[in-house]
Amino acid sequence: LPPIDPTDPASLDELLSEDEKTIRAAVREVLDAVAEPCIAEWFENGGIPNIRELTRELGSLGVLGMHLEGYGCAGMSAVEYGLACLELEATDSGLRSLVSVQGSLAMFAIWRWGSEEQKQEWLPRMAAGEAIGCFGLTEPDAGSDPASMQTRARRDGSDWVLSGRKMWISNAPYADVAVVWAQTDEGVRGFVVPAGTPGFSAPEITHKLSLRASATGELVLDGVRLPESAMLPEARGLKGPLSCLNEARYGIVWGALGAARSSIETARAYAKDRIQFGKPIAAFQLTQQKLADMSLEYIKGYLLAVHLGRRKDADRLRPEQVSIGKLNNVREALEICRTARTILGANGISLEYPVIRHQNNLESVLTYEGTAEMHTLVLGQALTGESAFR
Ligand code: FAD
Repeated sequence: LPPIDPTDPASLDELLSEDEKTIRAAVREVLDAVAEPCIAEWFENGGIPNIRELTRELGSLGVLGMHLEGYGCAGMSAVEYGLACLELEATDSGLRSLVSVQGSLAMFAIWRWGSEEQKQEWLPRMAAGEAIGCFGLTEPDAGSDPASMQTRARRDGSDWVLSGRKMWISNAPYADVAVVWAQTDEGVRGFVVPAGTPGFSAPEITHKLSLRASATGELVLDGVRLPESAMLPEARGLKGPLSCLNEARYGIVWGALGAARSSIETARAYAKDRIQFGKPIAAFQLTQQKLADMSLEYIKGYLLAVHLGRRKDADRLRPEQVSIGKLNNVREALEICRTARTILGANGISLEYPVIRHQNNLESVLTYEGTAEMHTLVLGQALTGESAFR
């Protein structure tokens, strides 16, 4: 038997097909060229300066709406999409967020619930990275409980008029189009809002200490008048936005592992180099325990991601199972980053290394797309048949 590969001690690579490995390698190659050298600086400066160029680059790579069929989308499998998310988040959760929001939230909403005209208008440009999308569900007073949203869309003749405010919206400051969810007399409906529409603005939320490479904004909707054709015709009720969140959460199941892998690799290399008490710190049992525990959680999270991905590809993945993956993999990835940070000692708090950046990013990932508490309650309900949400 060949010796153990320390970067893949459980030989998880054997779970992947050659095509899957090729796609993973292609994503890694592009990220190494266009993002890896600059990502710490983007995080430190609080944004990606060449965001449009980078988004077009990601579009050419085929990762925008990667798992959707038609309209210029790559039509890849769920596992392939997951592997891309892992590589993106190994560079930075902000990049994975850009891709998740574009493909799984904004594009998926239009692809799944939109009219043919809306699909033709937006999906090919979004897949190519020519147009950037965002997804507005959360509000200042409606987070985990989106049913309490205050944003209203009322009829005025054949038009719709939207009023309200969305909060914490990824990609909002530079988005060309926003998918906005609002209460109507017929329940929650979704609207495709071009960014230039009068009454629409998307001010950036500053002072974030997490996901700094991803722009987050508010959406201000001040009497935004839209034609009838702006409504997503097929989405009625919260099922519309929740179906999109389910897609994005699936990407996070994989993505969080990327941040974990990067932190494990950084800590392993550091531990072998750093000498204290005349030995590499990797030679101390306590360090080995940390590396072993980090590795075990990574391996278990990866097995779960592959299993859920194969189920998704077989159309057998339930939302509760996505909750299992999101809850476990984000929680364990965060713990891995925290442990890796201790191995780096003081260097662990520096942006010279990726670990504290991943750790801070994962604090957002733990909260968005359903908080860890919400996914715990989803699983709790699945296990007991009792709802503990309210
Ligand atoms: P709250 O819902 O107020 O929750 C606060 C705390 O109370 C949490 O710990 C929560 O778990 C807990 N809690 C709430 N209810 C219960 C309960 N019944 N039982 C037990 N505990 C409970 N939203 C979008 O729509 N689009 C985006 O693109 C987007 N991007 C984001 C980007 C970032 C960087 C961040 C940080 C958030 C983003 N969000 C986005 C918002 C995100 O989805 C919400 O923050 C999340 O849903 C939680 O809502 P909240 O912050 O209002 O917290």
